[in-house]
Amino acid sequence: MGQIIKGKPVADKLTENVIKEVEMLKNEGMYPKLKIIRVGENAEDLAYEKGALNRMNKCGIDCQVIQLPKEINQEDFLCQIKKANDDPDCHGILVFRPLPHQIDEEVVKHFINPKKDIDCFSQLNVAKVVDGDCTGFPPATPSAVMEILKYYQVDVAGKHAVVIGRSMVVGKPVSMLLLNENATVTICHSKTKGLKEICKQGDILIAAVGRAKMVDINYLKEGAVVIDVGINVDDQGNLCGDVDFDSCLSKVSMITPVPQGVGAVTTSVLAKHVVKACKKLSTNGH
Ligand code: NAP
Repeated sequence: MGQIIKGKPVADKLTENVIKEVEMLKNEGMYPKLKIIRVGENAEDLAYEKGALNRMNKCGIDCQVIQLPKEINQEDFLCQIKKANDDPDCHGILVFRPLPHQIDEEVVKHFINPKKDIDCFSQLNVAKVVDGDCTGFPPATPSAVMEILKYYQVDVAGKHAVVIGRSMVVGKPVSMLLLNENATVTICHSKTKGLKEICKQGDILIAAVGRAKMVDINYLKEGAVVIDVGINVDDQGNLCGDVDFDSCLSKVSMITPVPQGVGAVTTSVLAKHVVKACKKLSTNGH
């Protein structure tokens, strides 16, 4: 029977460290602040925003939500980004994506200040992830995966990590982060042939597919560490991951549950990134 590795202890540890760092910054006269820029009132964005506000509050990080109408045009949207870019009291910017169709994300990703871009929207931060340059900000969810592996002392160096999914939100960046930690990484996607056989070779299996319970026991190597990033709803209307948790538990060495797994860690990563941005901006300027 595998060990169920939950996100909460990881989030708690990260939060504890962030609280200490925020106190130290405040003692030096620096007050970390996050601006969340939200367009419209998408339910998922609102839920994530609530979680982020709670976490920032716990950490002592000031947080302001800029709520914009869903029909906002590109010029006005960029004007809000510029304000946040130029605001000396703002250290982190979080923009919910996808943005509505009238706003060109290609433009925004070159416009947002990379030094404040705590969730890897800008091209520069994407490049830094690929480059293995840890001065940037990898996206929150892949970073949460890495924090979980670190907390539960899974040494990834030399291990074969199989990632299912190649999105820019999860699959590709998590693959790069694993590679940067010296894992041997295989990236799978919807056109991959022999998916099960490839997954069966994984000492570590990361599922970021978006298909309820797709990964069953037949995808697993005995003793694999399984990180389930998926957030789906099953036939009974319950929240579930990409991994069929119940069937896989007996074969894995460790597995994250859904809910209470990766999703529980992302806002703590954001808080950690705000502190990192605040420190760097205070030293190197905006
Ligand atoms: P996405 O953009 O839809 O990407 C899904 C990836 O899975 C794609 O690369 C796709 O391949 C691949 N795929 C789809 N069907 C497949 C199949 N049958 N076999 C193999 N690969 C397949 O989704 P995403 O944004 O990366 O998110 C993935 C999951 O993570 C979703 O459930 C999402 O809700 C969840 N998520 C969770 C968090 C969190 O905080 N826990 C954060 C973000 C996302 P192609 O590229 O070939 O299409």
